[in-house]
Amino acid sequence: MVTRLYSHPIYLDHLTAPGHPERPDRLRAIAKVLDDEAFAALDRVQAPEGRREAILLAHPASYVDQLEAAVPAEGLARIDADTTMSPKSFVAAMTAVGAATAAVDDVFSGVADNVFVASRPPGHHAERVTAMGFCLFNNAAIAARHAQRTHGVERVSIIDWDVHHGNGTQDIFWTDPSVQYLSTHQMPLYPGTGAKSETGVGNIINAPLAPNDGSDAFKEAFLSRVLPAIDQFRPDLIIISAGFDAHHRDPLAQINLVEADFDWATAELMDRAGRFAKGRLVSLLEGGYDLQGLSTSVAAHVKRLMKG
Ligand SMILES: [Zn+2]
Repeated sequence: MVTRLYSHPIYLDHLTAPGHPERPDRLRAIAKVLDDEAFAALDRVQAPEGRREAILLAHPASYVDQLEAAVPAEGLARIDADTTMSPKSFVAAMTAVGAATAAVDDVFSGVADNVFVASRPPGHHAERVTAMGFCLFNNAAIAARHAQRTHGVERVSIIDWDVHHGNGTQDIFWTDPSVQYLSTHQMPLYPGTGAKSETGVGNIINAPLAPNDGSDAFKEAFLSRVLPAIDQFRPDLIIISAGFDAHHRDPLAQINLVEADFDWATAELMDRAGRFAKGRLVSLLEGGYDLQGLSTSVAAHVKRLMKG
């Protein structure tokens, strides 16, 4: 297996206010754990800057212009209650898009079997025309549309195991049967969406978990709702919105997953990628706010990606 890892120093220059959970140290913690010799075989590549045309696959030009105009010369510009931009945030967000689309190109060209993108800002709360929840551009949505546009595939499944519901991804694909969005998340919790009754055009599969749920409920949600829906859909590409804030140490939620759960879910999705998508799997970092829980969970996830 060739597993590629994208990152870029610019991701550390997207600054948030002191005490904000979505902070540069998250990526420093991930870099440190992936420095171990167990990850020596990772194909480490610096992310390219994204192209504006790629962003337009999921957001209108006016939205991109608006965010670009909001970039402050210094300090922080407030975008919503908990989303800010610093002087380098726009370029960082563009580069997160660049990594996501390059990762898709890599699994189609065969230069990599699968790819993990360690980027920030995250993306799954960004709706078509609304930045929110620490997110500016919806990386997973852009990656899915890029695969369809550039590589001519029909069906893409986005599996989102971040503890928060990916309202942005759901919004973007609400009427698009060619992209399947499947999410496990705590409910009730920010952003408030993600009920089982939200089904789009049959392409949205929400599997909410209750506060204090743990491994058993997560696996049950996967086995009873997520995996059967993927089996039926037969995607040409699997994208993971890989948030690690369902880890039991995370301060923003009350789900009690452990590293082995992320390993298990990764293996299940690799199995589906192997059966339907020639192994093509792209994993994009979303949330995860306890530095230890985040880094050890990413390690378990990436180790599984490398092992096959
Ligand atoms: Zn989250």
